[in-house]
Amino acid sequence: CADSGRYVWGMEETRAHLGERGRFSHKGSHGKALLIGGSQEMPGSITLTTKAALRGGSGLVTTGTVPQVIPSIAAHCAEATYLSLNADGRGRIVLQDVDVSGYDALAVGMGMGREQATADFTRKLVSEAKIPVLVDADGLHHLKQDMRILTQRRHPSILTPHPGEMAMLTGFGVKDIIQRPFATSRQFAIEYGVYLVLKGSFTIVTDPEGNQWVNTSGNAGLAKGGSGDALSGILLAQVMQQQNIQQALSTGCYIHGMSADQQVTGNHSMHDLTASDVIDGLASVFRTLS
Ligand code: AMP
Ligand code: MG
Repeated sequence: CADSGRYVWGMEETRAHLGERGRFSHKGSHGKALLIGGSQEMPGSITLTTKAALRGGSGLVTTGTVPQVIPSIAAHCAEATYLSLNADGRGRIVLQDVDVSGYDALAVGMGMGREQATADFTRKLVSEAKIPVLVDADGLHHLKQDMRILTQRRHPSILTPHPGEMAMLTGFGVKDIIQRPFATSRQFAIEYGVYLVLKGSFTIVTDPEGNQWVNTSGNAGLAKGGSGDALSGILLAQVMQQQNIQQALSTGCYIHGMSADQQVTGNHSMHDLTASDVIDGLASVFRTLS
């Protein structure tokens, strides 16, 4: 409904906005992604984000994480390159400089933990990065310590909370977020000037002006650890390949859910579906849509 600034995003919109891979394109045409996250005790999330960013169509993916995690993630993702970040004695990223120039977009937050030195690192990174930045998971907790970073940024900021993280960011209860997802998202996106992806059974993408698009794909098979980490990689790949950030985010949410939908009518069920299956299912999604 155009009057209310609320819209539905489905298969036709996704098909219309999915970028093409031109005959003469090269890896630089599809974006250089920088993903930062992970810790010794949580190596899985950033692994899923890296795989999803690659399968989602990124031209090049570099993952910055602690040295302890690089061998295991590299064994899963031969196509990515790695940036070894300074860690504390328990394998968590500490405050340091990272040069993000040369990358087209950054995603940060997955599996980092909530250590104060890690939070300091995330806030410095996000406030200094002059490229589109997506913040998820622990990164949202780090940002909450100083939300002025968001209003001071001059480049697109994308936040991808689930209702629990949205409650933490806003100070509302989880129940309020679930009962009033449109109003709470809209207020937040306008106040902080961000693109907000409020995840749930019907994910809502809100742009900084407060317009909203509801995703129509996905199923309860996604209600499992790792789904959101995969989404972050898919979203970043789309953000690098489309001019319009909202369209890129809605496209990414749709293909993530569509992969889950195709997988549960094929080899899998909602019971056994994993985030890795969702990433594997992108092959069939892209074939269906193109
Ligand atoms: P996270 O909680 O960060 O792992 O993110 C969960 C992901 O799975 C988000 O993309 C949600 O939209 C999706 N998801 C979780 N539960 C459902 C559900 N019941 N139906 C559709 N999508 C879901
Ligand atoms: Mg998550």
